[in-house]
Amino acid sequence: AQRLFDPLRQFADKFTAIQAGFTAIERIRDLLNEPIEIRDPENAERVQYLTRSTTLPGEIRFKQVWFGYKPDEYVLQDLDFTIRPGEKVALVGPTGAGKSSIIRLLCRLYDVSKGEILLDGINIRDLPQSELRRRMAVILQDGFLFAGDVKSNITLGEDYSFADIQQAAKNTNVAQLIEQLPQGYDTSLRERGTNLSGGQRQLLAFARAAIRDPGILILDEATANLDVGTEALIQDALDKLLVDRTAIIIAHRLSTIRNVDRILVLKQGRLVEQGSHDELLAKAGLYASLYRLQMLEV
Ligand code: ADP
Repeated sequence: AQRLFDPLRQFADKFTAIQAGFTAIERIRDLLNEPIEIRDPENAERVQYLTRSTTLPGEIRFKQVWFGYKPDEYVLQDLDFTIRPGEKVALVGPTGAGKSSIIRLLCRLYDVSKGEILLDGINIRDLPQSELRRRMAVILQDGFLFAGDVKSNITLGEDYSFADIQQAAKNTNVAQLIEQLPQGYDTSLRERGTNLSGGQRQLLAFARAAIRDPGILILDEATANLDVGTEALIQDALDKLLVDRTAIIIAHRLSTIRNVDRILVLKQGRLVEQGSHDELLAKAGLYASLYRLQMLEV
């Protein structure tokens, strides 16, 4: 089922509109890198944060986090959880439960109202934006492809060698598809990549994340019906992309998350259940009923 209301996309659209005077690359780099009014802390340089390389999986900790878009209207309430380095976690819950808000806080599109978010023990408020962005790759629905060639859609105009680009494409099962395009890596894409299938767009978005080799991966899984031909390629590419990374996945199709280590189930901004797929089914709570509903839809 298509979602009618997608806050992350809505945010991105608004942002894109604001940036209309910029080139596509600048827009998307802004979106992924510096989308915010939030300022770096004064002492950011002095914080001892460079204890881990960007490619090592990181630990994410939400410590009694409260958050509201408006004062005293909390859409996240007292969230407290730790995601261990290398752990794969799925966020599940009805629309409006707070999944996207968690991601926005983690990317510091907003700051928490109360509590703390720690990355490897350091409050993300004390990390320079550039450091935060280097450690995390965020894959949004449909991947935000822009009018430009395949190459720059992967590099976002940053300085990577052609060999790096090819390797990232190969690792994410998109190399073969790209090589079949009329001009290969130089093929021009239309705005939003409308000359590609949904599955191809998803794979390209994976390649964009893979080339950055981040320790943490955040994925808002595509909801659009994917072509049968690429579905298996996508699952395989995702499995490979997740190796040795900490990952948070907003899962819309519950069938894809059976393999995650832990599922966090949210309801109205609260964490109401957590466990593996099997544990949660056995519990016969909210997850089990969401899962049953989705099985009926198919
Ligand atoms: P989910 O991703 O689980 O669907 P969200 O995190 O998008 O949930 O939304 C959580 C709550 O916050 C919802 O009640 C939603 O209406 C509200 N919300 C989301 N974005 C905004 C915003 N930009 N301004 C005000 N309220 C918002």
